[in-house]
Amino acid sequence: MNQIRRPNIGLYLLMAGIFVLLATSILKSASQSNRKETSYAEFQKEMEAGKVTEAVIAQSENIPSGTVRYLLKDDTIVYFFYTSDVNEIQTELVKYQQKNTDFSWKMTDVEHKVDVLTVISIILLAGMGVFIILMIVRNNSTGANARMLDFGKSRAVMVRGNNITFSDVAGLKEEKEDLEEIVDFLKDPKKYTTLGARIPKGILLVGPPGTGKTLLAKAIAGEAGVPFYSISGSDFVEMFVGVGASRVRDLFQEAKKNAPCIVFIDEIDAVARRRGSGLGGGHDEREQTQNQLLVEMDGFGVNSGIIVLAATNRADILDPAILRPGRFDRKIGVSRPDVKGREAILKVHARNKPLGDDVDLKRIAQTTAGFAGADLENLLNEAAIQAAKDNREYLTQKDLEKAFVKVGIGGEKRSRIISEKEKRITAYHEGGHAILFHVLPDVGPVHTISVIPTGMGAAGYTMPLPEKDEMFRTKGQLLQDIMVDLGGRIAEELVFGDVTTGASQDIKQATELAKSMVMKFGMSDQVGMINYGGEDEVFIGRDFGHTREYGEETASLIDEEVRRIVRECYEKAKALIVKYRAVLDAVAETLLREEKIDQAGFEELFNKWSVGVIEESAPAPAH
Ligand code: ADP
Ligand code: MG
Ligand code: ZN
Repeated sequence: MNQIRRPNIGLYLLMAGIFVLLATSILKSASQSNRKETSYAEFQKEMEAGKVTEAVIAQSENIPSGTVRYLLKDDTIVYFFYTSDVNEIQTELVKYQQKNTDFSWKMTDVEHKVDVLTVISIILLAGMGVFIILMIVRNNSTGANARMLDFGKSRAVMVRGNNITFSDVAGLKEEKEDLEEIVDFLKDPKKYTTLGARIPKGILLVGPPGTGKTLLAKAIAGEAGVPFYSISGSDFVEMFVGVGASRVRDLFQEAKKNAPCIVFIDEIDAVARRRGSGLGGGHDEREQTQNQLLVEMDGFGVNSGIIVLAATNRADILDPAILRPGRFDRKIGVSRPDVKGREAILKVHARNKPLGDDVDLKRIAQTTAGFAGADLENLLNEAAIQAAKDNREYLTQKDLEKAFVKVGIGGEKRSRIISEKEKRITAYHEGGHAILFHVLPDVGPVHTISVIPTGMGAAGYTMPLPEKDEMFRTKGQLLQDIMVDLGGRIAEELVFGDVTTGASQDIKQATELAKSMVMKFGMSDQVGMINYGGEDEVFIGRDFGHTREYGEETASLIDEEVRRIVRECYEKAKALIVKYRAVLDAVAETLLREEKIDQAGFEELFNKWSVGVIEESAPAPAH
């Protein structure tokens, strides 16, 4: 049930009473009491009696109708009536004046004085009435309805004088370094403009929930001492069409007024989703909002002092339109912390918590692989609650361990607790990929090896440096790709004598590559240079029920060739890993300890542990 705030009936009655009183008094003073509406007939009667002493015809420009005001002898009341034909009255007044020489009359434009006053009063009253109704509705309604009253207004939260700085963000060293220039730019945009330097307008922070994306964005604003406007993509999609767009417009209008500043759009995937992904209605609203966002981003100049940061944990579903140059063209990955990062985060959040002598944050860091910053903060908080419950003035290691179990189970979906054994297997698996990346000439080199779960199902990853933009790949490269794919499984096999299901993705990828080589690229001498159809949905040649343009014989030939390629790659790759087994062990041990190895670290390990291994020219598998 929603918690609904009880309206105070008495208060509303009082307000309504005041409103009525004010209304009557304002209307009274607006309509002067010494005025009296009469009619043309009445006026004619008074003229016949010769009692009219003065008259004014008030006429709006070019309109035949108007108001006639007149005074009578021995009377202070101003009489008036409306006429649809000013000319007729005029003629009569001229005649009347000929008979009554002390009578005077004139024509004027419609006189606004009194009318304006009345109009203002009415507007004021109406405004007050609406205001009171809004107050009542707002307090009576549930949250959703109340928020509807805000429509069109950006609900951006502005934080000025926000005192979060980079020192509150633990770990994330590279990310902070990447953002350093943004801080510098916000501090002094002129410095950059005079040199003609272009600073990115939009930066996308990509990473799993709780890894510190919002924190980073706030820290940038805090470091630079500029205002921070934040809004969440999910706020945009809740209401009427057009509201999201107008909110975006308002948000940027505010930002422009207060530049330099940071605009932070959390959960941008809720707005900028690739067409056709996700379910449910509201597409119009989302599209409009996204379009407005693009319009705004294209609308301000590169160095106008607004930096738009956006966060998402689903970069894969973003509409490519928002990633184009001049929009969110810089991407910064924010990953789950490694062992050192976790310790640093624990330290940051332990700053205001008295720790007992037995507390070993390093030990906690070692057992919390896969935890994000938010989980660690939560862990310390739970530990503090535990200590308070026990009426202690400090936290003990036991508090932390209890909290670990609690947070670990609660946060199951985000991060699971990884067993030592699992971690070991992953370390060897990734080590296998890494060695092949390193020794094979046309792939790699290794950029990062990690055994921190990605949250997207992978227990770890090995990432090569970004590939060069090549127009095409050679057969040799493709074979090496297949070898790298198989490297993880091979390492598991060699070390544990058993294999896991963890390599299924690798195997799928290797098989698909081999199939493409045979069926699309004409890279098998046996099968020849023929494209055997099946664009993306290449199933193995024998796939039943799949329409194919070739016979049973060709199908088995393709099958055989695919198998041969994979098998040969497997043999070559295995030979290499056996050869560099010492490197594999060293890499795995290091990963178990540090969870992450960078390029320099890997090369150092490789050079140290490959001493004495006979170097041959890089092997390229025969076809
Ligand atoms: P995200 O936006 O990536 O989902 P947040 O920035 O909202 O994550 O992080 C939630 C909380 O977790 C932060 O307020 C902070 O207390 C803690 N936290 C996350 N990452 C870090 C970090 N690197 N250093 C310190 N605290 C962190
Ligand atoms: Mg966040
Ligand atoms: Zn793998």
